Amino acid sequence: MQLVLDVKNIECRYQQRVAVHDVSLRINDGDLFSLLGPSGCGKTTVLRAIAGFESVSSGYISLRNEVVSKTGYTKPPENRHIGMVFQDYALFPHMDVQDNIGFGLRDLSSQDRKNRIKEMLKIVDLNDYADRYVHELSGGQQQRIALARALAPKPDLVLMDEPFSNLDVEMREYLSQEVRQILKSQGATGILVTHDQLEAFSVADHIGVMNQGEIVQNDTAYNLYHSPNNHFVADFIGQGVFLEGTLLAPDKIETPLGIIKGDRAYDWPRGSKVRLLIRPDDIVHDEQGNLVGEVCNKAFKGAEILYTLRLSSGIEVLSLFPSHHNYEVKERVKINFAPDHMVAFKV
Ligand code: ATP
Repeated sequence: MQLVLDVKNIECRYQQRVAVHDVSLRINDGDLFSLLGPSGCGKTTVLRAIAGFESVSSGYISLRNEVVSKTGYTKPPENRHIGMVFQDYALFPHMDVQDNIGFGLRDLSSQDRKNRIKEMLKIVDLNDYADRYVHELSGGQQQRIALARALAPKPDLVLMDEPFSNLDVEMREYLSQEVRQILKSQGATGILVTHDQLEAFSVADHIGVMNQGEIVQNDTAYNLYHSPNNHFVADFIGQGVFLEGTLLAPDKIETPLGIIKGDRAYDWPRGSKVRLLIRPDDIVHDEQGNLVGEVCNKAFKGAEILYTLRLSSGIEVLSLFPSHHNYEVKERVKINFAPDHMVAFKV
């Protein structure tokens, strides 16, 4: 695997205020990575530093083994061989689709340029749109053209900043899957910045979750969900509730729902107070179950219903039932507590 991007311990400041602190990440050829986090956590600043629009106050950024940013030096964006896709598409309104796509191909011969434009139109499935102007395209079509324009010069890296946020929910879901397919088919290496975890999950191989200017966990979607390594990620990714508990043994926690023996061991002192993460898939609907929950809320999700259940102890948990298991608010249902993975944090 060839390393395309190496971001090492970078810090970025606006005036004297630190916006990004000690961020490191490495991306190999053909990998799709996402920076995910709440508003203001520093995702765009990292992306802009990689693009060369912001400088770094410590650490370095190297692209294909060449240092492009370090303290006192920032290689200009136009010399980094990077493609960019923005939230507002940023297509040129006075050019038609083919000239937009061909914008970065001025070094090619006219025939090669034409061939590449045709190839890109095919890849984004807009063969018949070559002569259209930007205002004659839908939002989703504009974003596909923006992607085609970014990919046409075969950049080393494609950077995408909230590319789906101007689209409606259905289009977002559809386009995020399509963008992944297009990028993978081209063997492109890319970074997606988003605050939407489902977008990050559907586009990226690896995700760096950011909070307050730092990457707090860099992992696969599966691990972020099932093995969050800090409280912030556990709370930010997916849904769930925290139960107060006491550590009885390295792999045993006493909770109001009973004693849980988990699949991992914690080396905190016995008797430590902990918070145990309970995901909706840890609470299973079971007619023979030994717990009873009263439905206090339900949200229909298509194939499943997400119930909020109140136990006799007053604790509320979430649970996903297949959608034909349809209960009304105030009905009582039998459940079992069946956590596959134990995830706990010391209080
Ligand atoms: P969002 O999702 O809202 O775009 P973000 O995670 O991309 O947020 P950044 O835009 O990177 O966050 O901002 C990180 C921090 O830096 C924020 O506190 C922001 O207010 C600050 N910041 C961003 N741009 C500037 C600027 N040009 N001048 C001063 N401070 C800035």
